[in-house]
Amino acid sequence: ERYRSVGIEGSRGGFVGKIPLGLKRKMKRVVVTGGAGFVGSHLVDRLMERGDSVIVVDNFFTGRKDNVKHHFGNPRFEMIRHDVVEPILLEVDQIYHLACPASPVHYKFNPVKTIKTNVVGTLNMLGLAKRIGARFLLTSTSEVYGDPLQHPQVETYWGNVNPIGVRSCYDEGKRTAETLAMDYHRGANVEVRIARIFNTYGPRMCIDDGRVVSNFVAQALRKEPMTVYGDGKQTRSFQYVSDLVDGLMRLMEGEDVGPFNLGNPGEFTMLELAQVVKETIDPNAKIIFKLNTADDPHKRKPDITKAKEILGWEPAVTLREGLPLMISDFRRRIFGEYEKSGS
Ligand code: NAD
Ligand code: UDP
Ligand code: UDP
Repeated sequence: ERYRSVGIEGSRGGFVGKIPLGLKRKMKRVVVTGGAGFVGSHLVDRLMERGDSVIVVDNFFTGRKDNVKHHFGNPRFEMIRHDVVEPILLEVDQIYHLACPASPVHYKFNPVKTIKTNVVGTLNMLGLAKRIGARFLLTSTSEVYGDPLQHPQVETYWGNVNPIGVRSCYDEGKRTAETLAMDYHRGANVEVRIARIFNTYGPRMCIDDGRVVSNFVAQALRKEPMTVYGDGKQTRSFQYVSDLVDGLMRLMEGEDVGPFNLGNPGEFTMLELAQVVKETIDPNAKIIFKLNTADDPHKRKPDITKAKEILGWEPAVTLREGLPLMISDFRRRIFGEYEKSGS
């Protein structure tokens, strides 16, 4: 007998394993806000793959139609140009709320807009979830831990965040978004899920979005020196995008509200990251040092015990495995073969 893969194999909630073709899983209607962005578009691919009906809501601030254009013409796919700061009426079963610029360069560009997106935008999506009884997943961030005084960071840690700094529009914005989600959960019985995402990289990142992995890769490919900010001894832990999408879907289908850290515990200094990029792209790549930005967290690494135990999730792709997948995408886009290959 032929079988169709449904849901996420091995996840505790939702569908597990395979069911016979005859017993078709009920198609879900899913909204992905920010679905034309980097993470959102990969999530949309997976939802479309499993047969869901997907509505992308995006204002194209940092997202691109290019990221989802392979779904155009599919009757299960719909794309709405809309800013989540404005109310919207939709009828769906699940809301993945990703709309928000994620790169420091982008979120500092118009900090008041970033706050509005995080607070008013999240409020609107929670109001929508409440009205239609949809399940709501918030993509929060490891930035809620600020410049952490606990290492690695556990979900129970409350963080060390500057409320009046240049990053506050983002990290305080996301902290408020988490508060809103919990208050709608407690006060209005909205089914919420909270993910705290750690630095994620992969194909479709904006080439010049200013984040460290995309910067180093683009610089090394263009034979420009890689710009290390500060002394380069600060650390981050880098997760490949497919691992994140897997975690987000398990969280949505599972029964636990969270918050859950979703990140790869492999921790690197920026100098070590530059070294890996150098080995992977160009052994002659050079490094230059630049002044670091204000309030830059000194270190960051997720404790993922909770996600492992409750969601049965852990990342599978190491930096050395994931980087080449991103590099081939960047190579195509930077050197113009992107359009020709059509991917
Ligand atoms: P991205 O910038 O590629 O995607 C964000 C998307 O949201 C874009 O398509 C953008 O156009 C859209 N958007 C922004 N403001 C909007 C608004 N007001 N209305 C409608 N759409 C809007 O970033 P990403 O890396 O894909 O991040 C997605 C989500 O994950 C964000 O919420 C981000 O905070 C969170 N996150 C990402 C990372 C990471 O490393 N990538 C880490 C932590 C958290
Ligand atoms: N909202 C929305 N779509 C809906 C339902 C609500 O965009 O389908 C918005 C609504 O405009 C409001 C926010 O979500 O600004 C919060 O809605 P809620 O009903 O919780 O609060 P209230 O409208 O009473 O302020
Ligand atoms: N960084 C760097 N060179 C760059 C861009 C960033 O050394 O060209 C550093 C930055 O100072 C920070 C780290 O890399 O310490 C991660 O920065 P990113 O903007 O990617 O993410 P976030 O600060 O949000 O974790």
